Amino acid sequence: MARRPLTGEPLPLDLVNTRWPANGVVHDELGDPVGLAGWLHEHGLEVDEPRHCAEPLRAARAAIRLSLEEGGDDQVNAVLAHGSLRPLLEDGAPSEHLELDSEAWRPAWPAARAYLGLLSTAPPGRLRHCEGTGCVLWFLDTSRSGRRRWCSMSGCGNRAKAKAHYQRTPGNRTAPRRSPHEA
Ligand SMILES: [Zn+2]
Repeated sequence: MARRPLTGEPLPLDLVNTRWPANGVVHDELGDPVGLAGWLHEHGLEVDEPRHCAEPLRAARAAIRLSLEEGGDDQVNAVLAHGSLRPLLEDGAPSEHLELDSEAWRPAWPAARAYLGLLSTAPPGRLRHCEGTGCVLWFLDTSRSGRRRWCSMSGCGNRAKAKAHYQRTPGNRTAPRRSPHEA
């Protein structure tokens, strides 16, 4: 399994980033049992039957990506329609119980819910698509300057720098060949 190029983003974006192209192949962390279990563990979303949750997670991933890239609420709302939070008092403390129409949605629902939270808390313009050619990754720009452009400096950042350098070099008027990463 290829290593994910970008990790550590908030849950909804991290879910979107579980699918990425590299060297002409599309990788899907959710399609690999070990990758899927690891991803669930990373986000505190462990379930008894992870493999049943892969398709709902893919649906949530597609819904969030569509909303980020093209707008449109319906697909995210369709994910959220699989569950609801019921407030209750538990041992004298306020609590919330997630009720679902199927256990398979247990990790996907909170991801969609967290996307709504992210939309309401992220400063304007800070949810951003990496500017790297062919890159599909999303991040929340938490930098002080608010000028983060790349998923990572070691990946797309470096490639962009190399490309700019190449184009500044006399005699190199055409763009360099696409790197294999830019599938
Ligand atoms: Zn990138």
